[in-house]
Amino acid sequence: MPHFDLVIVGAGTSGMPCAIEAVAAGAKVCVIEQSDRPGGTLHVSLGQMSGAGTRLQAHAGIADDAVAHLADIERINGGTARRDLLHQTVPRQGSTIDWLMDHGFDMDPSCPAILHLHEAYTTARTYWGVNGGLSVLKVVQPLFENAMAQPNASMRYNTHATALLTEGGRVTGLCLESEGAQEAITANAVVLATGGYGGNARMFERLTGRPLVTAALATSTGSGIEMGQAVGGRLVGADKYLPTYAGIPENADGEKVLWRHMPALTPQQRQPWELHLASDGRRFVREDTPSVDEREHALLALPDLQFWCVFSDAIQRAAPPLLPGWTKEELQVAWSNRPDFVTADDPQALALATGMDPTHLTSSLTAYAAACNGDALDPMGRNHCPMPIAGSGLRAIRMHGMVLKTPAGLDVTDRLEVRGDKGIIPGLYAVGEAMGGAALSGQGFVSGMSVTPALTLGRWLGTELGRSLSSHFERGQQL
Ligand SMILES: Cc1cc2nc3c(=O)[nH]c(=O)nc-3n(C[C@H](O)[C@H](O)[C@H](O)COP(=O)(O)OP(=O)(O)OC[C@H]3O[C@@H](n4cnc5c(N)ncnc54)[C@H](O)[C@@H]3O)c2cc1C
Repeated sequence: MPHFDLVIVGAGTSGMPCAIEAVAAGAKVCVIEQSDRPGGTLHVSLGQMSGAGTRLQAHAGIADDAVAHLADIERINGGTARRDLLHQTVPRQGSTIDWLMDHGFDMDPSCPAILHLHEAYTTARTYWGVNGGLSVLKVVQPLFENAMAQPNASMRYNTHATALLTEGGRVTGLCLESEGAQEAITANAVVLATGGYGGNARMFERLTGRPLVTAALATSTGSGIEMGQAVGGRLVGADKYLPTYAGIPENADGEKVLWRHMPALTPQQRQPWELHLASDGRRFVREDTPSVDEREHALLALPDLQFWCVFSDAIQRAAPPLLPGWTKEELQVAWSNRPDFVTADDPQALALATGMDPTHLTSSLTAYAAACNGDALDPMGRNHCPMPIAGSGLRAIRMHGMVLKTPAGLDVTDRLEVRGDKGIIPGLYAVGEAMGGAALSGQGFVSGMSVTPALTLGRWLGTELGRSLSSHFERGQQL
């Protein structure tokens, strides 16, 4: 049976940097990847990162440090993330950005910036490449492939890790499946860098009790989390789901959202001209609130996580585009064929076509019209009230709270050892979304706090394990 110092499951955002450092430290490393390419979620991620004390900040005259970054994270998520884990990653995240720059990262010239897609930091410490996650991959993939070409490294694509092997409570290896063939390998340590479960509707619905609408890849199956649970790992964070506000699935009743189809709902980029109405026709949020967190929590309170974005033909002509990423042809097809793109001649017909309660819908439109006309204050406290939603051409598009990353994962110590009710499971580690998106973001979206910790803690864990395992290896000892 092949034996390694370290097996890393997943050649994605956290697995690649973990492998790069472990191989450099001299450990005998094997990486297992179920798909035929490295990169994982970086292929679709926006790749927005955050880090304090970077060279780019110094160059721009921005004073910042890890203490301020940490305080900002805890302000945004109300202290709902793991502080001990934040202490592991946040002070190192600035170096991760510098490391990417050292390797030719094609940084967007507007960075570092304050980003409003998520609740904003008070300091400009968010960074992204000109091609989002692909810019990160462009730097990390060659380093990873170079590491995998070393004599102490072995890479297996199209290979699925199906179960962990244990002996006396210690993880000793893995069962693998490749093209129908089963195999077992042994290792002194296994790292689960397998990502989240945003591509697994069954698991998502079981853990959150909500329907899955997602921009995550199908490779985010949650299988690493389930493997860890099967050997006694504890699941944490399932109660911290927060939807992203908001997406339109590719098909009316489908679960998959294309990022380019995202509606423009960030007031800092486009003030709202529409009303957002819950499925019963009532307002549930101040559409122009500058707080993303406030919108996301209002959406979370809706049991079906969906709302109708209601406007009129006149608004469509006057306002900046609501769906800037859709082609003209896509919009024509959607308005002609899709049941979640509705046109109607009056509020009664709109209520009938959307299922909204006609009384609630009419009263939402009437109260908003009074605010637009200056006759009353908007009942939700909205300031941007440019035009009543009235006339014969009414329109509505159904939008859903959606998943970018999933909150639940394996409970880990601050050294990323997986633990369960009986304590630490020797030989087993988790990094990236496998330890739960909520571990570092809490119940909130904090800019860059998935990709950057995946890279940062991936590198840190690879260095730590590489050093300790290779020294034991050299001394001919078993851990
Ligand atoms: C559309 C979108 C936009 C996002 N934008 C941002 C952003 O701007 N900033 C941010 O911080 N976060 C963002 N995120 C989240 C972030 O990208 C992810 O949390 C992060 O990339 C996950 O890294 P990971 O290493 O945990 O998993 P991944 O990168 O998904 O890697 C996991 C790898 O493990 C493999 N694998 C899984 N199970 C097995 C198995 N059993 N056997 C073998 N291989 C397996 C998978 O195939 C995959 O290659 C975004 C997510 C999405 C979907």
